[in-house]
Amino acid sequence: MTDIYLPQFTVGEDAFDAFEQEISRYGKKVCVVHGEKAWNAAKAYVLPAIEKAGLSLTQAVLYGHDATYENVESIISNENVKTADAMIAVGGGKCIDTAKLAADMLGMPVFTVPSIASNCAPVTQISIMYNADGSFKDIPRLKNVPAHCFINPKLALAAPIKYLWAGIGDAMAKHVESSWSAKAGEALSYGSALGITAGSMCFYPMLEKGKKAFDDAKNGVVSEELQETLLNIIVSPGIVSVAVDPAYNGGIAHALFYGLTSRKHIEKNHLHGEVVSYGSLVNLMVDKDFDKLEKTWKFNKSIALPTCLADLELEADDPLDDVLALTMANQELKHTPYPVTAEIIHQAIMALDKYNG
Ligand SMILES: [Zn+2]
Repeated sequence: MTDIYLPQFTVGEDAFDAFEQEISRYGKKVCVVHGEKAWNAAKAYVLPAIEKAGLSLTQAVLYGHDATYENVESIISNENVKTADAMIAVGGGKCIDTAKLAADMLGMPVFTVPSIASNCAPVTQISIMYNADGSFKDIPRLKNVPAHCFINPKLALAAPIKYLWAGIGDAMAKHVESSWSAKAGEALSYGSALGITAGSMCFYPMLEKGKKAFDDAKNGVVSEELQETLLNIIVSPGIVSVAVDPAYNGGIAHALFYGLTSRKHIEKNHLHGEVVSYGSLVNLMVDKDFDKLEKTWKFNKSIALPTCLADLELEADDPLDDVLALTMANQELKHTPYPVTAEIIHQAIMALDKYNG
């Protein structure tokens, strides 16, 4: 048996007007689980929308500050959460993943309101969980995708622009990695073929409209290009995530990111999607896909995403042994279209530095 739940969403400056139609079918009482900064920016939109929809708020609960099981426990033991008919999660990826898992445990429908456009957490069927010390814990699979996602571009504009910037890089990697992982030509299941096809939406429209969208966001303008880019950051990679066999969900770009996080300054000074966008270039160099490499390199340059080691504060002659050992051990490299070694990745990193001239 195979089941695939696809993302459902509403996008637009009036997206929250859909609360009534989407949420009230589950009941009238809602709780909100939110991030701290997210709620400061979003409550002026979300609270009036809850009222306009004829819903009553049982409580707005701060989820905590990390996607941990401790935070999930405290949410599911909150009486005002338990007595609600539905949950609205308002925040970034970690808040939304925590709320999704809590709602899943309570058997409660969860609605998502992304406060930043940086990842596909608002529409996926997994939660990426961490330990209290910040280290990675696990990725539980949930019973369903969120009941609906409401994307208001104005909220994404209220957040620091760096999240959109990194989100673009992370989304583009979804195509680079998923299409690369499947390139050996083996027969694909319906879901894998669907997801990998959807993954191209994370890449080609971005090359065309990503820079305009980014500039518009900087200027506070909600344009068609910006709206489309938000969907290609939140929804398109979400379709890849929910549809493909896990073997095709990752690649060198993400494995290298996890390897690089062993260097403290990477965690401290650089965003996930930013580092991953550098990894996409390494992935394409390993694959000798020079056409796609050139397109991605030019795009990265155009919005100042990293293209070389120096952009990540690394020396050109750094042997990276520790980084590559972790990269190779990462689950993202369990499935590759051909054998990939630490040496191959290191040579690609060197070649990419040369490519930069
Ligand atoms: Zn990512």
